[in-house]
Amino acid sequence: MKAQQISRTVRDIVHTRSGGVCEKCGRRPAVEVHHRTGRQMGGSREPWINQPSNLLDLCDPCHDEVTDTRGNRAFVETCGWLVRRGEEQPADVPVLLWHGLWLLDDLGDFRTDPRVAAAWARIDAVRAA
Ligand SMILES: [Zn+2]
Repeated sequence: MKAQQISRTVRDIVHTRSGGVCEKCGRRPAVEVHHRTGRQMGGSREPWINQPSNLLDLCDPCHDEVTDTRGNRAFVETCGWLVRRGEEQPADVPVLLWHGLWLLDDLGDFRTDPRVAAAWARIDAVRAA
């Protein structure tokens, strides 16, 4: 089965959200759209897989960092850059961006709620380890 493509509308939403700047480092132009939960293993049938909450607009080095995790997978998941399939949906997992830790929605907006404070605590614990 051919993986569904990200629609032009969704690409525009994600690009507007990022302002064309990598959402992880904030320093380089965003050139690749990253799936927080990957499309493999039937994921392309999930309705949210190609929606903005599952996507990050990244530069090349940041995309490599979050996909080729070199033993850092726990940290990458703690930061919400990768979301393991079958747990929560990406919209419910805070993600660390250069300007803060946020929940992403499918309209291209950021919001915060008590889950974000809990996620900060987890990130701090991993960094301190
Ligand atoms: Zn970057």
